[in-house]
Amino acid sequence: MNIEQIHKIFLESSGVSTDTRKIFKNCIFFALKGENFNGNQFAQEALDKGALKVIVDEPQFHKNTGETILVKNVLLTLQQLANFHRKFLGTNIISLTGSNGKTTTKELINAVLSQKYKTTATTGNLNNHIGVPLTLLGMDESTEIGIVEMGANHHGEIALLCEIAQPDFGYITNFGKAHLEGFGSVEGVIKAKSELYNYIRNNGKTVFVNADDEKQMVQTEGMQRITFGHKNGDYLVDLADASSLLVVSYRGTEIHTNLVGSYNFPNISAAVTIGDHFKIPIEKIKTGIEGYISSNNRSQLIKKGSCTILMDAYNANPTSMLAALENFKNAKGDNKILFLGDMFELGKDAEAEHESIVDYISSNQFGKFYLVGSNFFKTKSSSNSIEKFETFEDLVEKLQKDPPQHSEILIKASRGMALERILEYI
Ligand code: ATP
Ligand code: MG
Repeated sequence: MNIEQIHKIFLESSGVSTDTRKIFKNCIFFALKGENFNGNQFAQEALDKGALKVIVDEPQFHKNTGETILVKNVLLTLQQLANFHRKFLGTNIISLTGSNGKTTTKELINAVLSQKYKTTATTGNLNNHIGVPLTLLGMDESTEIGIVEMGANHHGEIALLCEIAQPDFGYITNFGKAHLEGFGSVEGVIKAKSELYNYIRNNGKTVFVNADDEKQMVQTEGMQRITFGHKNGDYLVDLADASSLLVVSYRGTEIHTNLVGSYNFPNISAAVTIGDHFKIPIEKIKTGIEGYISSNNRSQLIKKGSCTILMDAYNANPTSMLAALENFKNAKGDNKILFLGDMFELGKDAEAEHESIVDYISSNQFGKFYLVGSNFFKTKSSSNSIEKFETFEDLVEKLQKDPPQHSEILIKASRGMALERILEYI
């Protein structure tokens, strides 16, 4: 069966599922393989639960009753179907990638564009070689603009995602020190993320560029680009107040966001610019952005007891860690406590990057610093304001004896540290 035929079946189905725990009536189940599972083995279960068809790639799971479709490679078929569907619909697609802030920016863009258009955006963080196809397959003829988050931790991944999604517009949030394990160095990050720029350039499409970010300007030189920034750019957005919840000002209108952290300023500016470019009235841009509240421990402001907590335990890498520290240094508060946990996926740079954070802290002592995890524990530098804990349990012991009170608290670490658990002890 070719892709066009599978697409016909897809149009008659109720959608796509890749998880037998989430089968819905008349869906097409794609029997993907992972490290620890083989979707083919769940083919019958998917049919029993109401799937219309199952796509398999192992002949022994193929039945001659017409309910299964045997292909060479299920993942490739999912990607090809998504690409076929994308071309079939011809929807305007905006793709974004970058080291930090992709999901936040994607949500903000969606909050703005959905004020006027029927949009389909990546759900949550489904931004990889499976998530991007699923996002595209979630679009239908009513979708006017698709907003697709693309994530990568290896070279070539963004290029592949671009081939599948064929974006009309691109945006890169930043080049930072994230996933160094897979990319080797920041130069590696720039090269990998710029695969989005290469696609856009080679296909005569357009990029949105943060003009305040020199590296983005260099990488997009000569391209068809729409720029924005604080000082430079086609669209000028101003940061009116960054002391707590950010207030930005655009063409005389103040937008009171529910976001903390000055690092969110470019994320907001991108959404404002894209909104204006797509002719959303400023009042609606304001409504969209003011209505967005971050979730999942991404820069959330939480009040507990006598403490105010900036919960940023969703993820961390050297770039976002430094951005969070700089921001918190300038935030209001006389009794700051910072809980910082290990940063993962740094490969050979792990030791040096943790050491460099501790060096920063040693010369910027604006609070009490509790460092948690084996990487931070191993760092050599120290100062009076720093206490190190090898494990989360060691930290808990300390907190039970001496719980923070009347403090402004920052919590930031890689996802695997699950540092949001600290909240229980405050
Ligand atoms: P992932 O790689 O998990 O998909 P992401 O790029 O989608 O991450 P978000 O989930 O939007 O990023 O944000 C995660 C955290 O990154 C935020 O809580 C914040 O600490 C930090 N962050 C967000 N935007 C920026 C930015 N522009 N520069 C630096 N750090 C940022
Ligand atoms: Mg994300």
